[in-house]
Formats: sequence, C-alpha cells, structure tokens
Amino acid sequence: MQHIIDRFINYVTIDTQSDSSSNTTPSTSKQWNLANKLVEELKEIGMQDVTIDENAYIMATLPSNTEKQVPTIGFISHFDTSPDFSGTNVKPQIIKNYDGKDIVLNEEKGIILSPSYFDDLLLYKNQTLITTDGTTLLGADDKAGVTEIVTAMEYLINHPEIKHGKIRVGFTPDEEIGRGAHKFDVAKFGADWAYTMDGSQIGELEYENFNAAEAKITIHGKSVHPGYAKGKMVNAILIAHEFLNHLPQAEVPQKTAGREGFFHVHHIQGEIELATIELIIRDHDLTLFEKRKHDLQAIANKLNDLYGNYLSLEIKDQYFNMKEKVEPVFHIVELAKEAMLSVGITPIIKPIRGGTDGSQLSYMGLPCPNIFAGGHNFHGKYEYVPVESMQKAVEVIVKICELNCAQTN
Ligand SMILES: [Zn+2]
Repeated sequence: MQHIIDRFINYVTIDTQSDSSSNTTPSTSKQWNLANKLVEELKEIGMQDVTIDENAYIMATLPSNTEKQVPTIGFISHFDTSPDFSGTNVKPQIIKNYDGKDIVLNEEKGIILSPSYFDDLLLYKNQTLITTDGTTLLGADDKAGVTEIVTAMEYLINHPEIKHGKIRVGFTPDEEIGRGAHKFDVAKFGADWAYTMDGSQIGELEYENFNAAEAKITIHGKSVHPGYAKGKMVNAILIAHEFLNHLPQAEVPQKTAGREGFFHVHHIQGEIELATIELIIRDHDLTLFEKRKHDLQAIANKLNDLYGNYLSLEIKDQYFNMKEKVEPVFHIVELAKEAMLSVGITPIIKPIRGGTDGSQLSYMGLPCPNIFAGGHNFHGKYEYVPVESMQKAVEVIVKICELNCAQTN
C-alpha cells in the first residue's frame, strides 16, 4: 500500500493547475514539471516508446507478451488540476483506519470534512483516506488516475505470467479547461479503444454524456428619451426578459437529474440599446438536443416577428454524447464491467451530466468510456481519495488487459 501512496503523493505535491485564459498548450508551464517526471518514471518502470510532444502529451507502450493477435487497448488520464481551487503547496494528510467520524482538515481555520455533510465518507470506514490540509485541492482528479495507470503497468511488467496484448498509455495536460483531447494524436496513439481513468466513486463506469451546445442571443434596441418614446423606443432589456420567459421553467440544472436535459442561462447583460444572453443547452438524447436548438430558434423568430428584427441567435455545438460511438463497440463496456465484477466491484453505470475527454476522443475515432479513479469532492478543499479505491482501480486495469487477451481467439 505504501508504494501507491508514495507515488500519488509524489504527483499531487507538484502544482499543475491549468489556466483557461492562456492560449498555449500546456496552458501553464508548471505542468511540464510533472510531465517530465512522468516520462522519466515510465522509462524507469520499463515502458517502451515513451514520448512527449511539444504540447506535453505523453504516450508509452507496454508491448504484447503473447503470440495471439490481441486488440490494442489504451488507458488515459490527465495530469493538470482544476483552475477552480489552488493546487499550490498541496499537503496531503493520511488517515489510516478511518473511524467514520469528522476529519479535522485544518484546526486553525476550523475546516472539517464531515460524513454528516459528505455521507460518501461512510463507504470507506476502516480504509485509508488521503485528504487535503484544507487550504488546497488534492488533485486526485486526476492524479489518482495517473497513479493507477503507472502502477498497473508496473505490475504487468513485474508479472509476465499475465498475458496481454499491446497496451498504450496516454497522459494529457489541460483536461480541466476542456482542452485535454483537442491536441491528442489518435493515430499516433494507435489503440483500438481506450478508457479514461477519470471517474469518481469506486465502481463508476460511464459511456454516456451530454450532447452540448452554447447559444448567444443578441438584442439591438433603440434608445429614445423616455418622455417621448411612445411607438419609438425598443428596450433590449425587456425583449431579453421576454426571451427568458419563453424558456421552459422546469428544464434548468437545479430541477433536473439523470437523463433530463436543460437550458442553463449563465450570463446576461443589458442596456436599452443592447442586451445579450448566454446560455448552454444539454441533453443526452440527440433528437431532444436538436429539438432544444430548434425551440430556441423558434422563440427568436417569434420575437422578431412580434417586434421587428432586433434579435439574433447564434448556436455552436460543443461536444456530443459518446454513446453513439460506444454502442457499436459495446464489448468494450462489457469488458470493463466483467473486469470489475471479477475483482469484486459492483459496476455503477450512469450517464455523465457533463462531458469528458473520452467523449471528444470517441468522436476523433478512439471509443473511450470512463472508469472510476476513486476520488470524491473534486475541485475543492474537501477532495479526498481512499487508497483502497486506487488499488482496486489498478486491479481493474490489470484485469481488463488480461481478459482482453484471454477472450481473443
Ligand atoms: Zn478529471
């Protein structure tokens, strides 16, 4: 157990926070600090073809140790951490044999990780937890994933009796700012399919995510002296208000769950002459997703008919549900499921209410479901990871490689 703890702590104590305001890849130069270290480590444990490109994308190969023609599988995780919370000077705390009570993260600041608020903690009674000291995030998202992949590769190298095909691993920068996949060279990676190790709770297995688009509504008004405005003034603020009133009031993030889609207005700005509304559209179902875009256009048309053409609507697709790309190769989900069951984990299969790098990679030709990495409460000071969950993730990776070979004729 100490080995995996040491490796994880090694990674999380290197600050790799990404930054969406930067245009470079990686978005922050400090991500190189961990990237370069990972390259050395992959070489040290005996991985082959270890490469890092000018954008800090790392790839490596574990060669096949069988005569069989086995499909190549990949495992992918990201080494940046979220811009939402500081990743500087992470001081992990190790809680052995967790007793199910409150954990004092920071005595001085009175920061407590409590199962009365985060009841998931109770799943991990008697286990070893790694937490923060209450002043930073932990970075289990996704350095737990990196730790698990490296540890699983090391295990396979040390256990040549376990037969497997060619395995590829990929570590990316900038996932947290939505740019983990966009410079990923799928052809160079050369896997038939892959898994991101980037989920949360032990057992999670995900192959459905939102279809996503963003929309911007711009309304040009006409300002006239209010005392003499009758029949002349066009108040962009009020048209914006009317636009919002036409949106379905129950289809918002705070009133939806599971596979229910929504419109989410996240920005509005207005003066008489000019108002803008920015919103995002989310739906797992492609037909309903298209209908939502269509409905927005219908509202815009209606208001334009009513008031004259003061309103314009711009809709941009962002990403799509990977289900469309994964279902035709559903055996890759079955394989992960079987691997979990055979190491004693009950798979928790549920749709992601967001996107993953895997969804983008799936549309780039690399079908890529998501598997748990074990952490909880990502992107903040309450983040923690049970070491036992990381160990189980290592077992799942090893088992996927093993079963993939065993099931090939
Ligand atoms: Zn992540």
